[in-house]
Amino acid sequence: NANRKFHPDPTVVDVAGVKIGGGNFQMIAGPCSVESKEQICQVALSVKESGAALYRGGAFKPRTSPYAFQGMREEGIHLLLEAKKVSGLPIVTEVMDISHLPLFEDVDVIQVGARNMQNFELLKELGTLRKPILLKRGLSSTLQEFLMSAEYIMAGGNENVILCERGIRTFETATRNTLDLASIPLLKSMTHLPIIVDPSHATGIAKLVKPMALAAAACGADGLMIEVHNDPEHALCDGAQSLTPEAFKDVADAVRAILPYSFKG
Ligand code: PEP
Ligand code: MN
Repeated sequence: NANRKFHPDPTVVDVAGVKIGGGNFQMIAGPCSVESKEQICQVALSVKESGAALYRGGAFKPRTSPYAFQGMREEGIHLLLEAKKVSGLPIVTEVMDISHLPLFEDVDVIQVGARNMQNFELLKELGTLRKPILLKRGLSSTLQEFLMSAEYIMAGGNENVILCERGIRTFETATRNTLDLASIPLLKSMTHLPIIVDPSHATGIAKLVKPMALAAAACGADGLMIEVHNDPEHALCDGAQSLTPEAFKDVADAVRAILPYSFKG
């Protein structure tokens, strides 16, 4: 059960020894998409150096246009596993379909993207696993709906759910989404599950990632997920919101510096 009423202590999700929640703040970083072995291994080493504890890259990409790059798919998972070997960082990647789950055996955290937040059959299947699940908030989902989706996973016995606020759709088009900062302390009062924030998809604009990352940390988030690319200008997906490895280091250092002052609830 995701409700804090029945479970007052915060849940700490353990990802291959990396703890998230209950006062353990973690940074997840990596490119939107796996593009090549060199790219995925190079970025892994650089974000590790800057303090990222988990490495994220997309192999199966949920793109709005069917003509846009769809990800390297199975080959992308293999390259991510190479990056895991090279860097020692546990990996996070998105599943889009139940039938692909056998490929995720050695993936440390399975991401459910915003578009699949209410794919209830997928959520039920993930509930049968004991692997940590990173559940992103749907594009237009209320917090109640978000928590009910977490509940679908937990109802099957998988309590290792990490929530991710990634911005919601509003009338504003200047940013890709609108980051719902108030959802962080509010969710904390509603649930014991860890909550991380994705300022990259929330804004769609690289220069907004730092202020929103700082704000999310100040609001008591349990972690951040940030897109980092070795060459954002030529990224196959989401280059406009991707940080260079140097910019990520700057954000990571700034966030660590304010953590002692963050809202504790
Ligand atoms: C992603 O994390 O790469 C992604 C597609 O984000 P979202 O599901 O939040 O849109
Ligand atoms: Mn992306």
